[in-house]
Amino acid sequence: MSELDDNISKLHTYLAPFRQNGVMNRINGEVVPAQSGETFDNNSPVDEELICTVAKSGPADIDAAAQAAHDAFPAWRDMAGTERKKILHAIADGIVARAEEIAFAECYDTGQALRFMSKAALRGAENFRYFADLAPSARDGKQMPSATLMNVTTRVPIGPVGVITPWNTPFMLSTWKIAPALAAGCTVVHKPAEFSPVTASILLEIAEEAGLPPGVWNLVNGFGEDAGKALTEHPKIRAIAFVGESRTGSMIMKQGADTLKRTHFELGGKNPVVVFDDAELDRALDAAIFMIYSLNGERCTSSSRLLVQSSIADDFLSAMATRVKNIRVGHPLDPETEIGPLIHKVHFDKVCSYFDIAKEEGAKIAAGGAAKEGKGWFVEPTLFTAANNDMKIAREEIFGPVLTAITFDTEEEALAIANDTEYGLTGYVWTNDLTRALRFTDKLEAGMIWVNSENVRHLPTPFGGVKASGIGRDGGDWSFEFYMEQKHVGFAT
Ligand code: NAD
Repeated sequence: MSELDDNISKLHTYLAPFRQNGVMNRINGEVVPAQSGETFDNNSPVDEELICTVAKSGPADIDAAAQAAHDAFPAWRDMAGTERKKILHAIADGIVARAEEIAFAECYDTGQALRFMSKAALRGAENFRYFADLAPSARDGKQMPSATLMNVTTRVPIGPVGVITPWNTPFMLSTWKIAPALAAGCTVVHKPAEFSPVTASILLEIAEEAGLPPGVWNLVNGFGEDAGKALTEHPKIRAIAFVGESRTGSMIMKQGADTLKRTHFELGGKNPVVVFDDAELDRALDAAIFMIYSLNGERCTSSSRLLVQSSIADDFLSAMATRVKNIRVGHPLDPETEIGPLIHKVHFDKVCSYFDIAKEEGAKIAAGGAAKEGKGWFVEPTLFTAANNDMKIAREEIFGPVLTAITFDTEEEALAIANDTEYGLTGYVWTNDLTRALRFTDKLEAGMIWVNSENVRHLPTPFGGVKASGIGRDGGDWSFEFYMEQKHVGFAT
């Protein structure tokens, strides 16, 4: 039996409960169907087969979950941070114990390759451990005495919050948003993406088994326009942490206006990787390839625009095209696979449409540029060259394994192209000139920039974007700033 066959056989075991029972909601510690009794089908992007049915929830289900989160809030808020810390560590232990199951389910549900999803599952555990350790000090504040007052400022959790997550690396992203909310003392209603609901359900099962009290974390499945919208409009939900497309962020801002929602948005990107001719080119090539062709290119921080200096462009792009043609596309559970299928047909059609757009716009297809034959939503990893920054392939977030390469002559030109975008999530700069790196990063419009490195996440650092890429920051204490309120008390002395 090959390793892939072996993995597929394990997958069937892991998915059996979902095939039998579907993915239901989890409200106040109970597994419940949508109140309407409706479900929708969840099919795998790998072979288009039905994985399971999923509760199709609406406002009544959100209302029940928000009420449960509201009722559970005082006790969770008042629990000692050291106790919350123990529970969050127990959740991390549970994730590690079920990491293979999570990774396999995620691969089949999303199409992401096992080599990345096994790490993403463990990163989910790290997220819980990191915020578990911060829970005891989350409320810490300051004393600021004046002539007549002892001023004491502390932080308090904001209340029940809504978390809305997308379908790319859904497990890891859910942990990244929910762990700090729980550590801060907030209760949660989570609405995962309709296209990848399986691992959110496993995650909450783990949390409940780890001793999380009922109602502290509730899961409501369904579509954005029904369940998602109702969550953003619910008066008992104090804040919405959202990860997804920029235009959905705008809708959520409008939907939350009447109830004055605090919002935190992690949105789209069209991130530049800028390669100067004095860089270590082998490392730059590896990193540029990794940052767009890993995770199927369905990655908000992907370097989807390659800006390469003209003096080295021919050699760099020809080496890149050769490498891209050799990337292995295949079943996500095959350990050799680097790229799996895209999440669903609509997204597949969108990504494929850029192959024709590129030709119409006059770019060259140096590698890929076609869908794969057969079942599943597979596309060839693709490299567009001879592009300019006015083309749609350079301006729109394609969100697939598709890279648009543009050449530049001078540093000023590179900076102008890099900043000529509605987005501003990440940037990657490759140069051995330290002064240039400092100058360039100072002017580059992005929330996060790496110099001579791919994206390596350090959990205490701020994560987030500028312009249409987001509002607010995650990571370290920034997460608590979102999930908590400052409270000031002045004592007369
Ligand atoms: P999406 O915006 O379509 O959906 C995200 C979530 O929002 C889903 O759960 C969906 O059901 C829900 N939703 C949709 N309409 C809604 C509404 N009106 N009200 C409330 N909820 C609603 O995004 P997607 O296609 O699932 O994810 C891909 C996008 O996510 C890309 O643009 C990517 O760049 C972005 N993303 C950003 C980051 C980041 O950190 N900046 C991370 C991952 C993904």
